[in-house]
Amino acid sequence: MIHGTTLFVIFVCGALLVMNGWLIMRARAAEDEQIARANTNLARAVSQQVESTVALAEHIISGIVFELERADVVPETLERLQPVLVNHVSEIQAIKGIFVYDEQGRWLVHSEAIAAGSRNNSDREYFVYHRTNPSARALIGGPIISRSSGEWVVPVSRRINDPTGKFAGVVLVTLSVKDLLSVLERFQIGRQGSIAVFGTDQLLVRRPFREADMGRRNTDSPLQRRFQSSRSGTIEARSAIDGITRIISFESLLNYPLRVTVAVGKYEALKEWKFASIYQTIWVVLLCLLVSVSGRYLIRSMRRRLVAESHLRSARDALAEANERLEHLAQEDGLTGLANRRYFDSRLLLAFAQAQASQTALAIVMVDVDEFKKYNDLYGHLEGDECLRRVAHALRATVRRSELVARYGGEEMVLLLPATDAEGALEVAQRARLAVIDLQIPHAASALGQVSVSLGVAAEIPSLCSTPSELLKAADEALYLAKQEGRNTSRVHD
Ligand code: GH3
Ligand code: MG
Ligand code: MG
Repeated sequence: MIHGTTLFVIFVCGALLVMNGWLIMRARAAEDEQIARANTNLARAVSQQVESTVALAEHIISGIVFELERADVVPETLERLQPVLVNHVSEIQAIKGIFVYDEQGRWLVHSEAIAAGSRNNSDREYFVYHRTNPSARALIGGPIISRSSGEWVVPVSRRINDPTGKFAGVVLVTLSVKDLLSVLERFQIGRQGSIAVFGTDQLLVRRPFREADMGRRNTDSPLQRRFQSSRSGTIEARSAIDGITRIISFESLLNYPLRVTVAVGKYEALKEWKFASIYQTIWVVLLCLLVSVSGRYLIRSMRRRLVAESHLRSARDALAEANERLEHLAQEDGLTGLANRRYFDSRLLLAFAQAQASQTALAIVMVDVDEFKKYNDLYGHLEGDECLRRVAHALRATVRRSELVARYGGEEMVLLLPATDAEGALEVAQRARLAVIDLQIPHAASALGQVSVSLGVAAEIPSLCSTPSELLKAADEALYLAKQEGRNTSRVHD
């Protein structure tokens, strides 16, 4: 029972803790999903912005290339083109500058408010690429510092062919990194968040902006490896740039080899979940404590009750035993160990009623020690008591177990013999008298020289009108007769 309660408490606490763990993991999964969804949406929005900017740049480049490849490049063509370029740059904030170079890298026409002079861009990566690569597609290069403005720009460029298909120069549109950054700054990503735009193998721009990160090549990061295998997704990775672990979602642009990543700090994003989990766990632990304390209290009070019950049981047993003993004592005569007078009276009433009902004989034998006053006088009261005890013992031995021997009072004793007629009772009386004689207790003041008893017998089948006291009286009278006859004899009342 107690063992069961302990097990129950353990089970309840265990179940609470397991459930708590399960709820926390569930909340974490939901949180992860929510973060990934928000990140992905943001990455998609940013990639669309970048895509439209690059598309615009490509559109402008295509227009210029078309213009230059259609006719011979004469100074008039370039003169006509120049204000168009200036107009584009002033109209479109995302575009920092537009440049046209000849096959030597010399500046033919540009949007800048500076003189071309002897400037030459043939050393730029994009120029080298287009000179050797016949592709007519636009190239998006890594970020560079503009030679005209000194600002960070992302170059978008395309090759110009002459009518024979030979390399005739490059058109370059530079995208303003500052403007790109202002686009990235518009989104809320928390204090530890980051948004970045990657080229094929290079970082183009990243928020938060750091000069050192520009053009960073990081081909071996987990993120770069994921770029190889899928167009979009969400991963958790530690940043090689600032060491912060982030949850990163990435999205590829539809028409350009660019990718946008949106990342939130893992600690920051999961902070609320973490606090809620800790808070919840504290409550569950408190609940467990409450359950175990109240369980312990329950067990203790149960144990106490069991102990009290067992004490009560043993007290009850002891009481019953004491009662039995008391009852026995109340029925017993202290000196002789025979039944006492009170008990005899009650047994006589019962036996008389039974004899009356069954119409069987009931006998009483009154026994009185002869010359006992003298015995006391001669041997002393203590010796007298011992004599009474021995006589009582002898009487007890002469009757059957079911028959009662009681001390009637003083040195008088009485035998109650159910289902015994006068003849039978006289026989018992004689046996009792001889049993006392056999004791051979010396009595110098007696005519016989030893202790003897006189007995008065009365027996009847009780009629309805006779009473127990009449029977007693008759036995007493018979005893008187026995005394009259000189003692040490039995007399039957007729
Ligand atoms: P008898 O019966 O032969 O006529 O003479 P008796 O001397 O026995 O007669 P009686 O009934 O006058 O005396 C009874 C005596 O028994 C009186 C009393 O001192 C004594 N006696 C009664 N009860 C006790 C007892 O409990 N202990 C002792 N030692 N003596 C008792
Ligand atoms: Mg007497
Ligand atoms: Mg006597």
